[in-house]
Amino acid sequence: MELRLYDTLTREKRVFTPTDPARVRMYVCGPTVYDFAHIGNARPVIVFDVLFRLLRHIYGADHVTYVRNVTDVDDKINARAAERGISIRELTEETYGNFLQDVAALGCLPPTAEPRATEHIAEMKTLIERLVKGGHAYVAEDNILFHVPSMPDYGRLSKRPLDEMIAGARVEVAPYKKDPQDFILWKPAKEGEPSWPSPCGIKAPGRPGWHIECSAMSWKHLGETFDIHGGGIDLVFPHHENEIAQSRCAFHTAVMANTWMHNGFLQVEGEKMSKSLGNFVTIHDLLKEWPGETIRFAMLQTHYRQPINWTVAGLREAQRTLDHWYDLTNDVASGYLCADALDALADDLNTPKAFAALHELRSEAVKGAKAAAACLKASAQMIGLLQQSVADWASFRPASVAIDDAQIMASIDARNAARKARNFKEADRIRDELAKIGVVLKDSKDGTTWEIAR
Ligand SMILES: [Zn+2]
Repeated sequence: MELRLYDTLTREKRVFTPTDPARVRMYVCGPTVYDFAHIGNARPVIVFDVLFRLLRHIYGADHVTYVRNVTDVDDKINARAAERGISIRELTEETYGNFLQDVAALGCLPPTAEPRATEHIAEMKTLIERLVKGGHAYVAEDNILFHVPSMPDYGRLSKRPLDEMIAGARVEVAPYKKDPQDFILWKPAKEGEPSWPSPCGIKAPGRPGWHIECSAMSWKHLGETFDIHGGGIDLVFPHHENEIAQSRCAFHTAVMANTWMHNGFLQVEGEKMSKSLGNFVTIHDLLKEWPGETIRFAMLQTHYRQPINWTVAGLREAQRTLDHWYDLTNDVASGYLCADALDALADDLNTPKAFAALHELRSEAVKGAKAAAACLKASAQMIGLLQQSVADWASFRPASVAIDDAQIMASIDARNAARKARNFKEADRIRDELAKIGVVLKDSKDGTTWEIAR
């Protein structure tokens, strides 16, 4: 089976050939653990879980190493712990525990290794000392900085012009920097912050910058170069560009990873997700309203490289389809994997095309083809769906799931009839009844639409 993946570095879809098929190695940047993960954070976790499953299918479950790190030293963590009056360790343990619960509910397999930054300080220091010795980094006022002009082909991943990179990184114009693009590898710790003895003869205790963490952890767990590096598109610059600079300059290698994969942005109901817009959706909250599989399925309806518009309508659609699939495959043994669905996945994880193949199987299964139902079950399971018993699936029916479209449409018609008859009391009563089950009506000149209240 030929797997083709889009590589951000070369900007092309290429046949994937692992360096060692007996040990396929993938690294994905994981969470910074200071708060509940939001639905945008869920996207790479789900996307790379599908890739992990596919790689395991192709190369064998024991031949794929998937490393997803945990950033447990960060300014945001320090600030949040101080705000809540708990220790940094308490905060990171609690947040990471929540994260693991959330992603397990989304049907994601545990990665092979989940290294923590704070447990790899020694490796970070080794890398930093190498970079300083090699002339790629320097010490300035107890900071250690990577000197970007020391790497002639810096910027190949993001392919941005220099001025844009400086603006994009919002780099601090510090007087001790030799070049405005230079970035922090190590910095002095402020009072009360976690700190470690500094490398390179610096007396003041310090702590690592964010980028060096991933270079150190991928090195420790996967080696100097490896097969796939993944993450969200927002990490291309500066994070991944800087990881590449650190690792390649420390090890004198031509590449850090052979394939760079990035998932697209996520918007909520057509808008950028932000706390100020009030459309900030955490996985944790979403899981109270929707089964994890529904969230996973809705996420994979869009190809991973495309921007995704996260909507309640999309969740409802996913829920309806899964209800139907569960119904059709009840009491059916798992069958063969659908070749068309596998081919679609092998073509740069084309999940929408894979689902189209599964919809065809559904049509055949509806007509009574047992083999089609068995194939649908096996193929959906391979993507991390239909993992539960029908009884378990049916037992989770919060208001958002249980709402019956036909019933709502009938209520809307009754309300409109009441309004036409100028019976506003009855119209209001129907509207209030719907509000009680979380359905909000919107009237416009084109008619009445409805949505689930958040
Ligand atoms: Zn990273």
